[in-house]
Amino acid sequence: MQDFWIRVSLPVFYGALFALLLWAVFSALVALSFMLLLVLAVMAYRARQLYKLGQWLSDPRLEAIPDGGGIWDDVFSSLYKMVKRHNQTKQKLADELQHIEQATAALPEGVVSLNEANRVEWCNPLAEQHFGLNPNSDILQDITYLVRQPEFIAYLHAGNYAEPLVMKAARHEDMMLSIKFVPYGGNKHLMISRDITQLERIETMRRDFVANVSHEMRTPLTVVNGFVENLQDMPDLSHDKIRHVLQLMAEQTRRMDHLVSDLLTLSRLENDHSPLRTEMVDMESLLAEVYQDGRLLSGGRHQYSLEITGPLRLSGNREELRSAFSNLVSNAVRYTPDGGTIKLSWSLHSGQPEFSVQDSGIGIDAQHIPRLTERFYRVDRSRSRETGGTGLGLAIVNRIALRHQAKLQIASRVGEGSTFTLVFPASSIKER
Ligand code: ADP
Repeated sequence: MQDFWIRVSLPVFYGALFALLLWAVFSALVALSFMLLLVLAVMAYRARQLYKLGQWLSDPRLEAIPDGGGIWDDVFSSLYKMVKRHNQTKQKLADELQHIEQATAALPEGVVSLNEANRVEWCNPLAEQHFGLNPNSDILQDITYLVRQPEFIAYLHAGNYAEPLVMKAARHEDMMLSIKFVPYGGNKHLMISRDITQLERIETMRRDFVANVSHEMRTPLTVVNGFVENLQDMPDLSHDKIRHVLQLMAEQTRRMDHLVSDLLTLSRLENDHSPLRTEMVDMESLLAEVYQDGRLLSGGRHQYSLEITGPLRLSGNREELRSAFSNLVSNAVRYTPDGGTIKLSWSLHSGQPEFSVQDSGIGIDAQHIPRLTERFYRVDRSRSRETGGTGLGLAIVNRIALRHQAKLQIASRVGEGSTFTLVFPASSIKER
């Protein structure tokens, strides 16, 4: 500070010394005139520096900082350092803000920050998608103008956010959203939205599946129940009648048994995420077994044949392959009227081994083909039941095909017959 006063007064001090000299040599008037001019010059110089400072302060850019001599040098260099520090802090804050923006943009959930009056302060890109928000024009808009579904407005105003709100997204008909409100900073809220379409779909599938299984089990159970009641009500039924009723009951329990065993197979296949245990399967013996099972099922009612031209060893799981092949053969037998033909073949096409079952049965309308591998999907429910079907056979085949990286192809025409082909990858005939 002391240094500051010395430097400020130095020009005047030297000027005064020089004026004294002028007084001694010339006169007091000359000395006074000189002092006056000097003070005016110093004032003009300082006024000019102040003007430059004022100009710069109206647009304080680092590179445009003015330079000045003497004491002004100190002032401008302090200002220079201050502005530099300020710019660095600003840059750091901008970087951090960008960081936060990138992190929230990467969040798997939509986030909208709402102020005390439920107006949008900010939203991330996922929230823009979920609610069709526009980050430029929708800022400070009331959220109830932007998301207008009555259930949303009721939820928002009820103020009880313990449970999330599940609703359809207004702009995407098939999107389901789960919305949560999290209070923060006093009376503000973060609105967090999650796309639960997939979860809802799985939940619907699960509900349908449980309903289907219950229905499938209830039908035979009701029949068995009816027979049991009949037997109780009519104790003096003839032996023949009782045998007949027991036979019918046995059919129903067999049906339930089939259903449970197919359900167990399917659940094992669907829940087994471990890699497939493969072996080099002897195809000749496997196909002979499948062929023999089919022959027993057909009981001589069809012209039945097997042709083997494909590789004799295949890398796969024998038990699963047998289950898939047998399901296809059993279907051919069940959906081909007496006298029809059923041809099994094991062949190689373009390096890919194929198992195919061709029948001259009732065939399938094209509209059903894409859905045949769904669980419990049947073209003709009663025909499937009459022939002991569970509606799970092709779902099992498809699962096994997936586990073997094979494809199930279906070609069919109503009244002419169907061909079901399992196409294995070329790599499955190589020793692994
Ligand atoms: P299901 O136990 O009912 O046969 P699947 O899953 O094996 O169940 O087959 C699903 C449906 O596909 C059957 O209900 C039937 O309508 C149809 N289907 C399967 N194989 C054949 C076939 N070879 N010929 C005609 N329809 C078939």
